[in-house]
Amino acid sequence: MRATLAGTVVALLLACGSGQEHALSGGQPAPADGADDPIAELVARLDLERYKAVIRGLTQFGDRRQGTRRNRDAVDWIEAQLEAAGCPTERHHYIYDPPPRPSRPRGAGDAQLNPPGPTPTGGRIGRNGSGPGGSSIFGYRRPTGVVRDPQAQPDEALRALNLEEPTNGERSQVYCTKVGATRPGEMYILGAHMDGHGFGEGADDDASGTALVMELARILSAPDVETAVSIRFALWNNEETGLNGSRAYVEDRRELQGVEDPPGSGLYPEPRWLGMIQHDMMLFDHGAPGPDGEVSPHQRREADINIEFQSSSDLADQSRDLAFRFKAANDEYATDYPAAVGPHMTNTDSTPFMNLTPSISLRENERGMHIGAGWNPHWHQPTDLYRTYSDDDFRLGLNAAQTTLAAIAELAEATVVAPR
Ligand SMILES: [Zn+2]
Repeated sequence: MRATLAGTVVALLLACGSGQEHALSGGQPAPADGADDPIAELVARLDLERYKAVIRGLTQFGDRRQGTRRNRDAVDWIEAQLEAAGCPTERHHYIYDPPPRPSRPRGAGDAQLNPPGPTPTGGRIGRNGSGPGGSSIFGYRRPTGVVRDPQAQPDEALRALNLEEPTNGERSQVYCTKVGATRPGEMYILGAHMDGHGFGEGADDDASGTALVMELARILSAPDVETAVSIRFALWNNEETGLNGSRAYVEDRRELQGVEDPPGSGLYPEPRWLGMIQHDMMLFDHGAPGPDGEVSPHQRREADINIEFQSSSDLADQSRDLAFRFKAANDEYATDYPAAVGPHMTNTDSTPFMNLTPSISLRENERGMHIGAGWNPHWHQPTDLYRTYSDDDFRLGLNAAQTTLAAIAELAEATVVAPR
């Protein structure tokens, strides 16, 4: 079943190389004529069922927790998909060797499955002080936390798949690069983290962002697409223990930026960074908890994509400008959902980049004010499963893909050329 699924996704990737037969899935006409507008033509190559198929493919590796076999298998699978899509891959390796987690009495400090009904913090309303990243949390809240008991997963097969605990050692993360035709020594980075935890399938956190970046790698690597500058598609490994994959990448590679190697070759192993755009948790915008601590099972009517920058970073102005470029791209090219910009980007893989290059994140909600207040009851829970989400949820993720694809196509000066 799982092997068949992987085969299906590969077949889809190969069969849909040109993608021109795909219409926009939102049931609306493309906002501009693709023949005149390369951005509209590229955005029209996104497809809801394909996006879902890649998320489904990632969930065959359970929660893909870092430091385990299921995580390494997922990295190999992602690499094979990117190669099949014509995006040449490389690996970045680093050592992750943290001290053991302090042992605590069972249950202490570990949020288990969020219980239904009123909770200690549910029912509290009003301004709740300063949240992560300097944001303030308003309104009703529900508790959040990471499930650390594998037995909390009721599905036996998934429980067995997720059983192995991490071991310290080498970590490997994969990226692929679209090389720019005229300025190959400069690049934008599009990121998402492929690891998860909580003993579910990490479908929203963060297969939804990983699939978005993989789909953009496929579309922008098509033989008839050219970009002026380079674009790197990075699937960070080990975000959940504290942004360790992206942090290691920044530490190891920041000094290599813009260096032609070997000299005179026209090759740039690490093109100079023009911006970093991270994608975390793209699916679930069902609004705030109610007075009973419960979140609606239905998407809220005001569902939107939240684009954040960090107003305290060294490059706050440039990052804010980048965020509004993305909002403008959403205004023009997204089919179903709007985008909003906020200044509190936090707890995300673009954080290690934010004082070095303009950095933003796209999400289903604001990280501090919304996710931090418990707006997503599946976050780090055994219920973060592919089957938990409806097409409305998946379509919100697809609209984030439309937003980033349109913005990056404009920034990288993408053109659709006659195939050679
Ligand atoms: Zn997470």
